[in-house]
Amino acid sequence: MADCLFCKIIEKKIPAKIAYEDAKVLAFHDIGPQAPVHVLIIPKEHIPAVDALTENHKELVGHMHLVAQKLAKELKISKTGYRLVINNGQDAGQAVAHLHLHLLGGRKMQWPPG
Ligand code: 5GP
Ligand code: ZN
Repeated sequence: MADCLFCKIIEKKIPAKIAYEDAKVLAFHDIGPQAPVHVLIIPKEHIPAVDALTENHKELVGHMHLVAQKLAKELKISKTGYRLVINNGQDAGQAVAHLHLHLLGGRKMQWPPG
């Protein structure tokens, strides 16, 4: 998608610190980290939000979670714990309209979120 920031990161038109890449997904460190570890896992297909998911995306969404699990191990937060977040829409504060799974860890987090 021409005007999408995360599509530009996938195409390497905008630089990012990449943590993992395969044919289906890209993971990179968030530019404004909210925790010592803050990685975004995104599909290479431009999907605007959870709301736009279909039955065809079931495997992809599962894969995104397994990539998060693998990165949590690699980044040494799997034993202390981590949080996975997907914001959908305005009230949740979704700022980029390309589906992204936040992987956060390395500090104690509050619940419920603000
Ligand atoms: P959202 O609020 O949409 O769930 O999360 C968007 C995330 O993307 C934010 O945590 C923000 O810091 C991150 N972000 C926005 N622009 C860039 C960028 O150009 N590079 C990287 N690495 N992260 C970005
Ligand atoms: Zn996109």
